[in-house]
Amino acid sequence: MTATTEGPTGTQPSLLENYVNGRWTASRSGSWIDVTNPATGEVLARTAMSDRDEVEEAVAAARAALPGWRSLPVIARAQLLHRLRHELEAQAGEFAACVTAEMGKTLADARAEVDRMIEMVEAATAVPQTMQGRVLENVAANVDCETIRQPVGVCAAITPFNFPAMVPMWFLPFAIGCGNTFILKPSEQDPLTQRMVFGILDRLGLPPGVVNLVNGGAAVVDAILESPGIDAVSFVGSATVARHVYERAGATGKRVQALGGAKNHMVVMPDAVLDRTAANIISSAFGAAGQRCMAGSVLVTVGGVWSELRPELVAQTSRLRTGDGSDPEVDVGPVISPAARDRILACVERALGEGAALAIDGRASGLEHGGAFVGPTIIERLEPGSEAVREEIFGPVLSVVEVGSLEEAIELVNASRYGNGTSIFTESGGAARHYRAEVEAGMVGVNVGVAAPVAFFPFSGWKASFLGDLHAHGQDAIEFFTRKKTITSRWFSVGESGPFFVE
Ligand code: NAD
Repeated sequence: MTATTEGPTGTQPSLLENYVNGRWTASRSGSWIDVTNPATGEVLARTAMSDRDEVEEAVAAARAALPGWRSLPVIARAQLLHRLRHELEAQAGEFAACVTAEMGKTLADARAEVDRMIEMVEAATAVPQTMQGRVLENVAANVDCETIRQPVGVCAAITPFNFPAMVPMWFLPFAIGCGNTFILKPSEQDPLTQRMVFGILDRLGLPPGVVNLVNGGAAVVDAILESPGIDAVSFVGSATVARHVYERAGATGKRVQALGGAKNHMVVMPDAVLDRTAANIISSAFGAAGQRCMAGSVLVTVGGVWSELRPELVAQTSRLRTGDGSDPEVDVGPVISPAARDRILACVERALGEGAALAIDGRASGLEHGGAFVGPTIIERLEPGSEAVREEIFGPVLSVVEVGSLEEAIELVNASRYGNGTSIFTESGGAARHYRAEVEAGMVGVNVGVAAPVAFFPFSGWKASFLGDLHAHGQDAIEFFTRKKTITSRWFSVGESGPFFVE
């Protein structure tokens, strides 16, 4: 998307403001881009490409708010999260509609995402328990030792387009629950959902500066990475940018967690229950039009099972309807933009050029609607080392590879540079146990196509899918958003010279 320097006029779509120091503020950068509905091309709003000074204003507000916010009793912070959860729940339908309009996924997918967003806030309300430290008395005579958790300081999160509701909430509620102040830079491709969330946060009356929203692109990200006033950075997005964020934030001494791209394998054993397996594969590969970091994008079939699975998979996939995600009859919405569609189609063409074949050809599906559509596509007769098997396509494209044994399947999966999620479909406990023990991926499903953990467990990708030590949500979030302080103490008045020891 190319930024323009014209401001909006009265007849143009609304301009998205930043939320800094408790106020909605128009960006002064003079540079905007369109936020479009990928199903229709309609311009929904224009978002500012904010500049470094605007990031620094948010940092100053967050720093100023920090002493007051971290001193607020933890129970008061938890109560605030309970109120946020309640408000999000009350508007769940509007949130889902907003996600569908700006990101494209179907209303059912959007509602599932919104439910996960709410679940994140719910998990964060447990801070009075999860933030507790540890105490051991009498580590030496009359000496006690305790570790307490304190907030890290000013935390920032940079998020991708594919989960505009949920992914920002992997961080915001845990960060502020632990007493940090917070700056969010949502994806410039779909920032409207977070405008709604910040509208609620504004109405809840948080002290100014506790939460801040700065819209923009790479310039905002680099300003965050370089700002000396930011203590911790959470990033979710593509592998290349994750590496950039990890290195840059690390170089400026920040705590950092960077979640990158993925290529997730689904292994099907000959003893799998095929009709149920096919339904799981379809939902994993084509849900959210394949734009999930946990999408199953490579199908690894073992020992000739492809010939049995293929008819069922093709039949079920052929029944999927591609179109505008706001139509309840539609199963697969558009991809995020015409540029994404062209990139995905070029990938399919290259696979065909290498001798692969299409079991299902979705290249022309949905074209009659206009918009950025690619229908579900299944590529077969692929070599294990081919681009469509190795690289993230991030669209509704399933690449099929046939192997002879479970060991061969494990070797293929472990050769990937990514290690986000994987699934095995089998009725053999031994095969499943061997797979989960040997596979190099951080999230494993057994007869579960999208093994994305619930909020109370960490989202634990490996290899190029995750750079850092502490993962998103679960107890890892508390570890990431707090730093430990260990205190060793004794009291002379009641210690060895005190009254308990008077003879
Ligand atoms: P992206 O990397 O293009 O953008 C992510 C964020 O980084 C956005 O806020 C964007 O403004 C910013 N950004 C983009 N280019 C930048 C640059 N050159 N310098 C600095 N900042 C930059 O990712 P996307 O297309 O929005 O999202 C899709 C990607 O995210 C996929 O690769 C997907 O696998 C990944 N993802 C990973 C997870 C996970 O948990 N591992 C979750 C969701 C999405």
